[in-house]
This record gives sequence, C-alpha cells and structure tokens, in this order.
Amino acid sequence: MLEIRNLHARIAEDGTEIIRGLNLTVKKGEVAAIMGPNGSGKSTLSYVLAGREDYEVTEGDILYNGHSILEMDPAERAAAGIFLAFQYPMEIPGVATMEFLKVAINAQRKARDEEPLKIPELLKRVKEAAGSLNMDMAMLKRPLNVGFSGGEKKRAEILQMKLLEPKLCVLDETDSGLDIDALKIVADGVNALRSPDRAIVVITHYQRLLEYIVPDSVHVLYRGQVIKSGDKSLAVELEENGYAGIIEEAA
Ligand code: ADP
Ligand code: MG
Ligand code: MG
Repeated sequence: MLEIRNLHARIAEDGTEIIRGLNLTVKKGEVAAIMGPNGSGKSTLSYVLAGREDYEVTEGDILYNGHSILEMDPAERAAAGIFLAFQYPMEIPGVATMEFLKVAINAQRKARDEEPLKIPELLKRVKEAAGSLNMDMAMLKRPLNVGFSGGEKKRAEILQMKLLEPKLCVLDETDSGLDIDALKIVADGVNALRSPDRAIVVITHYQRLLEYIVPDSVHVLYRGQVIKSGDKSLAVELEENGYAGIIEEAA
C-alpha cells in the first residue's frame, strides 16, 4: 500500500537534507511502527507524506497503491485516502470543530462521487465517534484545536480519522502529552480502525503506545534513514537497551 524508495527530502527554505535515502514498505492490513530518537526525521517524514510545501523531495519516490504521489497536492492525497495525524495539530481559529468535520467529510465524499451527508446523519456519526473517544460534544462547538489540551488535540485527530475512514493512516506521536487513560482511549480508537484493507503507520518515540497498539512491524529511523526493521520484539529491545546499540550496529 505504501512503498517509500530511496527517499531524499530537504527543507525548502535552506536546503538542509533531513530524509536521506529512506526505504519503507507497508502492506495493506499492516500496522507499522516507526521509532527513533528525537530529531531523526520522523515528523519530517510525516510532512513529506502529507505533501507539505516547506519540504522538497530531491530523489526517490513515494508509491501509494503502486502510484507515485509526489505530484499530488495535500488535498489530492487526502481525497485518495491518506490521513496524517500530526504531532502538533494545527489550530484553526474561527472554524468550529463540527463545521471543520462537516467540510472534511463532505470533501472526502465528493472525491468519492458521493452526495454530502445529511445533517442528522452527520450528527449521528460524529456523536457516536466522539462518544467512543470519551469526547465532550460541547468541544465540537469550539474552534478546532484552539485552546485544546494536548490530550484533547490528539483525540480530535483520532475523531477525524474515524470519521474520514482513510486507507492509509499515519499518526505522528499521537501518544505525546497523553495520560494513561487518554492513551488507552486513543489506542482503542486506532485499534478499531485496524482492517485488512487499511494500513496504519504509528510514529512514536516510546514503546509505551505499542503495548496498546501492537504493531506487525517496527522500523528504526535514524538520521533520515531506516536503519533497522523487525517485529514487535524490536520495540521491546529498544525500550530495554535504548537506541545506542542499534545505531552502532548500523554504523
Ligand atoms: P523527529 O520527529 O524524529 O524528532 P523532526 O523530523 O522533527 O525529527 O526533525 C528532524 C531534524 O530536522 C531536526 O534536526 C530538526 O531540527 C530539523 N528540521 C525539521 N524541519 C525543520 C525546519 N522546517 N526548519 C529547520 N529545521 C528543521
Ligand atoms: Mg521530535
Ligand atoms: Mg517528531
């Protein structure tokens, strides 16, 4: 479903290369975890996958269902079923969360040649999804992410993901800023989305989240490259021994 081949990407503004020859394959139905020390390029990878303009791909390719997405803008990628939950979700002043959800859902439906959702059906779906994440409906009247706590922002991201039903989900440090109860709720939300026709990429610094979202594969990112891949036992090994051993081994 996702194949990243020898990807090189740099910051557009100053040309600094952050992703330096990254290879990664994620199959349909797979839950892949990307781990790595701070500054290794995890968030940059998520921005590049989203198609943010501040980053330039200089070499390599990103294939989604066998087709390159490099020429697609962020809206086209979203319409194609790619969903990114960012480490630092954007605040959108002046747009109520509910309104944002309506626009996002209907844009997605339009891309699939479906009619916009009728308001009662929309409300029903949002209510159900928010309830399953223990989110207060009152929050949905507030502008998206503005003044939300860290945990509320993460839940709002998962809420969007549940409602948009993407095919490829990438979650960047969805666990950061969550207490253990919120972490379990978010993990349940992600686990509920596991499906044979969907791939989920979980980016995390810590192994803790992976006790609740058990990955099929684990990949270690360091200096913009995947330096080691393995199964879930790799995450446990990292938790016990840290990254130093694996970095040395790769060097
Ligand atoms: P991680 O998510 O693994 O902690 P990041 O992708 O956030 O890593 O950052 C990787 C490196 O790229 C860091 O050294 C960071 O400072 C740098 N970096 C990323 N984006 C920018 C940017 N827009 N401007 C300057 N430096 C950046
Ligand atoms: Mg970081
Ligand atoms: Mg990051």
